[in-house]
Amino acid sequence: MTSKAPQTLQQAPYAWQQPAWDQLLQSAGVDRLHHANLLAGPAGVGKLDFARHFALALVCDRFPESAPCGDCKNCQMAAGGTHPDIYMLDWLEKSTVISVDQIRKLIDQLTLTASRGSHRVAVINRGHSMTTAAANSLLKTLEEPGEGCVILLLADRERELPITIRSRCQRLAMTLPARQTALDWLQAQGVKEAAIALDVANGAPLLAQAISDAENLAEIAGLRTQWDDFVIREGSPTDLAIATATLLGTRQALSLFMQWTTETVKNLELSPPNGRSTVENNPVDRRYLCQITLALQSALRLDNASLKTQAVLEGVLADIRIIRYKNRAENAS
Ligand SMILES: [Zn+2]
Repeated sequence: MTSKAPQTLQQAPYAWQQPAWDQLLQSAGVDRLHHANLLAGPAGVGKLDFARHFALALVCDRFPESAPCGDCKNCQMAAGGTHPDIYMLDWLEKSTVISVDQIRKLIDQLTLTASRGSHRVAVINRGHSMTTAAANSLLKTLEEPGEGCVILLLADRERELPITIRSRCQRLAMTLPARQTALDWLQAQGVKEAAIALDVANGAPLLAQAISDAENLAEIAGLRTQWDDFVIREGSPTDLAIATATLLGTRQALSLFMQWTTETVKNLELSPPNGRSTVENNPVDRRYLCQITLALQSALRLDNASLKTQAVLEGVLADIRIIRYKNRAENAS
């Protein structure tokens, strides 16, 4: 099902999104907007706000000059979440995938119903979590979505999207802002421990803002050390699971672990040529980090809602520990 989430006028485009916004609006203004757009970038940079705001602009009466104006009938309907030409697709309650049924319904709505204006817009949030069947059923629509249809496909982890999907979309990079830009924005939002929150969130401002609401921010930041210890050295999975579960929910914890692993991979990529950084005689290589990412991804995809956070984390951390032992055995032989 598509939902009509409130499409309020957000702060989007955020300062760091202005170039992407200008680029998109400019192409739209001269009728060069691609009908299928992949907004790719890490979680917490504001992709969804950006996409909602762009959807508003496309249906606004004053498009493209001063859209969204916020005044016209279309803007008001969109702000109230009731605009018939804006379709928001996201996980259904308790689900962690975008299903083929959801995509089929969306396609029906895009093709069968009449439009109010010149554009109709589908925003598919967390597109990376489409099932294979969902992705396959979207292919044809991505090629020919119909007159005036624009699809905005959002992905935190675009490599999880099939190449057949990626190749049909115009890619728009939604990158992390420069650190100072992010700090300025966080401070303007009244976030007190902006620097710590930004570190914990690996530079993603919206994620940092969400985390900063936690009273125990310093303790969450402390988890980072424990995580590194676990990944690189011999930290205990149980201790880490217990410490994390007292501070964070399952999804939040797994997402943070994912962010931290991504950062470690990036640091490795910056470091010298053989792709290995030796920490206390324990080589941490890209393969190991990719395996960790995969383990976290599959945990994120499972329906963990009924399980206790500590149990889920202990499970995934035990898997990671096994991966490490296996790698070490292979390296030794
Ligand atoms: Zn308007």
